Amino acid sequence: MASQGLTLTFQGAAHTVTGSCMEFRHGDRSMLVDCGLFQGSRSLEALNNSPFAFDPRRIAAVTLTHAHIDHSGLLPRLVAQGFEGPVWCTAATRDLLEPMLADAGRIQQSDAERRNRRRDRAGDEQFAPLYTEEDALAAWQLCRPVPLEEWFEPAEGFRARLWNAGHVLGSASVELEADGVRVMCSGDIGPEHKAFHPDPEGPGGFDYVVCESTYGARVRDKITPDERRRLLQAEVQAAIARGGNLIVPVFALERTQELLLDLAILHRSRAIPQVRVFVDSPLASRVTEVFTRHAGDLEDIDGTGGFENAAFHFTGDVSESIRLNSISGAVILAASGMCEGGRIRHHLLHNLHRRDSTVLFVGYQAEGSLGRVILEGAQRVRISGSDVNVRAQIRRIDHYSAHADQGELLDWIVQRGPISGGLFLDHGEPDALEALRRELQRLEPELQVRLPRIGESYRLAAGQAAKRIATGNLEAQQVIGRDWQNAYADLATRLKSDLARIRDEKKREEAIARMREVLDSYSEFRNRRHTRRRD
Ligand SMILES: [Zn+2]
Repeated sequence: MASQGLTLTFQGAAHTVTGSCMEFRHGDRSMLVDCGLFQGSRSLEALNNSPFAFDPRRIAAVTLTHAHIDHSGLLPRLVAQGFEGPVWCTAATRDLLEPMLADAGRIQQSDAERRNRRRDRAGDEQFAPLYTEEDALAAWQLCRPVPLEEWFEPAEGFRARLWNAGHVLGSASVELEADGVRVMCSGDIGPEHKAFHPDPEGPGGFDYVVCESTYGARVRDKITPDERRRLLQAEVQAAIARGGNLIVPVFALERTQELLLDLAILHRSRAIPQVRVFVDSPLASRVTEVFTRHAGDLEDIDGTGGFENAAFHFTGDVSESIRLNSISGAVILAASGMCEGGRIRHHLLHNLHRRDSTVLFVGYQAEGSLGRVILEGAQRVRISGSDVNVRAQIRRIDHYSAHADQGELLDWIVQRGPISGGLFLDHGEPDALEALRRELQRLEPELQVRLPRIGESYRLAAGQAAKRIATGNLEAQQVIGRDWQNAYADLATRLKSDLARIRDEKKREEAIARMREVLDSYSEFRNRRHTRRRD
């Protein structure tokens, strides 16, 4: 059925931060902006296996904002199910996608193998991987690089331009025009003073803007790159003085390279000794090669010698990784960043029990991840079937971020103005979406702000408010909603013991009063939701 005008359907990242996918439909043609994997809880990940809400064979093109798997990781499945169109992205995103998607394919395959071993024993039917490394590489072959800030035609009837989003190498916001409607999709927006990239850019004056809200509730202390490096310097010096290793769980894309950059600068200025730095992650090593290939596009890297530093060692096969088990006095960067898989688990196994070793967290640790458990002070953890006592120093630096905070998101939105039709906030947990909406209503009371739910469709017309034409996928909305239920159950079970731990009775009463205040501060929002539902 051909729809009238231009419609936008949110197929993912609605009231959650993963599974980014927006479908734009004009006449009988559809194109996607992003095609990301759902990540996090098991129920959320199950959404990856549910059928696409559209026929992949009828999607004319995909435009990708960046190479993170929560924005690109369902492409191989889309291709395996018949999508044949081009995948538009920057050249750096294309180069990153080759190792990133291949790695995602291998993870899907080994997950399926592990589950099937269990099913085998139980005599159950075999489970097919979501996609394979081969599917991933087939998807990668469809990438068509386009330069920033130049118009191209992603599909007939659509015009688009990419703008630097300052989030990770290759990241872009997508400006889209169809049926006389101008739309801007933020993708993930980087913070000010991000290593390697200029601040996010883009024109102003749109009918609609879609903006991510990951840190819509967070206001970060602003520190300069020099101040951040001084924090890292202090951690490296203290760890080396203790005599053991400094173990840093990292994400392969960008956090690894940011740390290498800071370590190179500290080495060069002799702020830290020429300590050996091991990158023990095949994916991080391959991603670093892509950074080297695109060094001409990167800021801050001149004069540091880049990633080819005599102190940096990129370990190869497993035997080289195992050799690191018996060393001391080294910095070891290994993935995954939340310690949920990868070689970091081996390094934790060999270092967590050592009083002279240090584990330094430099990235977000999701609720329930091993990283979060260690960071919250667990005395004993279980890794690959072994119980490990935690005696190492546990440290963190919170100032590495690839995401804009609340103020920076508001700046980006204001710079895209005037926005005549309305703003959609996506890619955020409910509290982040609500906090950002509150701030926007204070700053720009005239602006229509919508928090779309998964599967909802809107009719877009130049200069007019968005009109919701479909209410979306209730089942998927409930799966996403269940995450707050989990969080609530967790809070409720811990509430009494957490309160009992506050020894001073007065302070305990104060804590209860403050919790009440927080809940009351949302009552205004409750009312607003009711009036919205009537329109
Ligand atoms: Zn991202």
